[in-house]
Amino acid sequence: MDFALSLEQQQLQKDTRSFAERELGCNLVQRDANGAVSERYWREDWRKCAEIGILALCVPKQYGGQGLDPVTTIIALEALGYGCPDNGLTLALNGQIWAVQAPILEFGSDAQKERYLPGLCDGSLLGAHGATERESGSNIAGLKSTAERKGDGFVLNGVKTYVGLAPACDMAIIFASTDPSKGPWGVSAFLVDAQTPGFERPPPQQKMGLRTVPMGEIVLNDCWVPASAQLGRAGAGSAIFQHAMEWERSFIFASHVGSMNRQLDECVNYANERMVFGQPIDNFQSVSNRLADMRLRLDSAQLLLYRAAWLKAQGKPSALEAALAKLHLSEAFVASSLDAIRIHGGRGYLSETGVERDLRDAVGGVIYSGTSDIQRQVIAKLLKS
Ligand SMILES: Cc1cc2nc3c(=O)[nH]c(=O)nc-3n(C[C@H](O)[C@H](O)[C@H](O)COP(=O)(O)OP(=O)(O)OC[C@H]3O[C@@H](n4cnc5c(N)ncnc54)[C@H](O)[C@@H]3O)c2cc1C
Repeated sequence: MDFALSLEQQQLQKDTRSFAERELGCNLVQRDANGAVSERYWREDWRKCAEIGILALCVPKQYGGQGLDPVTTIIALEALGYGCPDNGLTLALNGQIWAVQAPILEFGSDAQKERYLPGLCDGSLLGAHGATERESGSNIAGLKSTAERKGDGFVLNGVKTYVGLAPACDMAIIFASTDPSKGPWGVSAFLVDAQTPGFERPPPQQKMGLRTVPMGEIVLNDCWVPASAQLGRAGAGSAIFQHAMEWERSFIFASHVGSMNRQLDECVNYANERMVFGQPIDNFQSVSNRLADMRLRLDSAQLLLYRAAWLKAQGKPSALEAALAKLHLSEAFVASSLDAIRIHGGRGYLSETGVERDLRDAVGGVIYSGTSDIQRQVIAKLLKS
């Protein structure tokens, strides 16, 4: 593995970071404090990101993408996270790239790819991933949503919850059982347009962090979709879900690694400037130890992320490496965000400084894409196989 960046990759990194610093995250402290998602701002930032090609990075050119490899893609997404302090926005962008676009690319028919990918890349379509239900999150095989055959199509019924972008999406991948008697082997995936009668979105769910972008439920109420909406084969839903999870676990934190890098730089500067007892606080070993721990978490997170991307680029299996990356990156972001607050003292606890926001944003990461407990189970199981 050689992670020395090419000249093109260095340029992409530089351009993406300066775009994000210049264009994204306006009024962030107020928007985060309000809790009620302000459509105007995040939609505008989403549009700007689509315009410079963030959503198109690793999509083939024939579908409106840039056709970049996974390593180059995560270099850009990491730089985006460094420059953009709005973790809600960067997570939502990553969610669409890895949990919506990636499964369409892998399992979609030509017609499905042509129908959805160009719009998802250019920002005219917003995509959501609807798997979780109130009674089945970690145990996704226990989902209760059904897809009953009717005419030349299926009638979908069920409720998906905690779905990123649900209140605003134009389409969603929905997992539902075509044959409940077959358990996980009866689950299928569908590409459902939000305009379809019976596709309902209650008001957004309020949340602890990532408050700048909406999340919510999708209620499927006798929602009829044509047979052509099925993604992959009948009964392939669990395999599609696992495939999506492998991509999502590998890379959904790409931008958060950039956030951790920015967070560390800010902490190093603050610790050097803040005078207490007549000296900068980085003279105190307990403070500098925290900085060292943050750097160790950042470097190990980055290496796990890049290894997962390198494996994907080589077409090699990476389920274990994806789970390791997801577990470490999510826990590292929480731990470093807490350290950042401690280093900033009382200032770190004030909402107006924005330091505490990273911690609230980071906590979601130990839950979505499979909790840390579930990642440990996946890792332990793969070690035995
Ligand atoms: C910010 C955020 C964004 C999300 N985005 C999406 C999205 O876009 N689309 C979507 O479909 N879902 C999304 N989710 C849902 C997320 O994937 C689920 O919340 C997650 O899988 C956990 O499921 P649950 O909430 O039902 O918790 P539960 O499964 O009820 O788990 C509760 C607790 O029990 C533990 N636990 C459960 N089973 C086991 C076990 N076998 N061994 C050990 N411990 C166990 C868990 O680790 C957890 O601590 C999102 C969640 C969050 C917080």
